[in-house]
Amino acid sequence: MTFSPNAVARLRDEREEESTKPYLARGSRAPRCHTCRVIESHCLCSWRPKVSARSGVCLIMTKKEVFKPSNTGWLIADVVSDNFAFIWSRTETDDGLLALLSDPQWQPYLVFPGEYVAPERVTHTVEIASSKRPLFILLDATWTEARKIFRKSPYFDALPILSLLPEKLSRYRLRRSTRSEHLCTAEVASLCLELAGDSEASSALDAYFDVFSQHYLDAKNQLPINESSVAHQELGVFVKDLPHNRSQ
Ligand SMILES: [Zn+2]
Repeated sequence: MTFSPNAVARLRDEREEESTKPYLARGSRAPRCHTCRVIESHCLCSWRPKVSARSGVCLIMTKKEVFKPSNTGWLIADVVSDNFAFIWSRTETDDGLLALLSDPQWQPYLVFPGEYVAPERVTHTVEIASSKRPLFILLDATWTEARKIFRKSPYFDALPILSLLPEKLSRYRLRRSTRSEHLCTAEVASLCLELAGDSEASSALDAYFDVFSQHYLDAKNQLPINESSVAHQELGVFVKDLPHNRSQ
């Protein structure tokens, strides 16, 4: 089965080629699958969902983030076929990013907490003309890095800010019994997709993130893979060719 390209994987491959010495991500001693980054014995590739979405997603990343095996922007790029990713630099602006921001087919929204922004720029809903499609720009970095990217990227100054309302966030946490205070990038993207009416892609991304977390942790703790979990069942709905249905 063919999948649309993953822009984060492309960035990783480009950076790997550029660097003179191989970049050793943490925990990189065990062999990892080159396609899904999970330790080979717990490879996620056959669980990649195939869904369609009207929305696009653009990830702004740091160099480090591209190589982190735990990065969840990668999962978004696996699920949303119109995905873009750029490495942020304070001194250089990527022409590809500027072209994307001015492409008339997209209505970009920069996803960021509203309390840090002038109120007139902030919106909590996604309502756009039918001639345009929403493009969610996500700062896929630590919170400290994200604030810096936000402050020092003048080309974002004109964009509307999509701020997720606290009640939406807490309802999401409750539904998914997420304990952590901060949502990861994949969870934020899922909420954005839901706001845009891309509910299938939103649910697929939630389930894919859960399955990824399970494979990732089981591999780390050297536990056998358990493909009969609830998360796998939920994800299975969006996987066209399930592993256990396959002939050898
Ligand atoms: Zn894999």
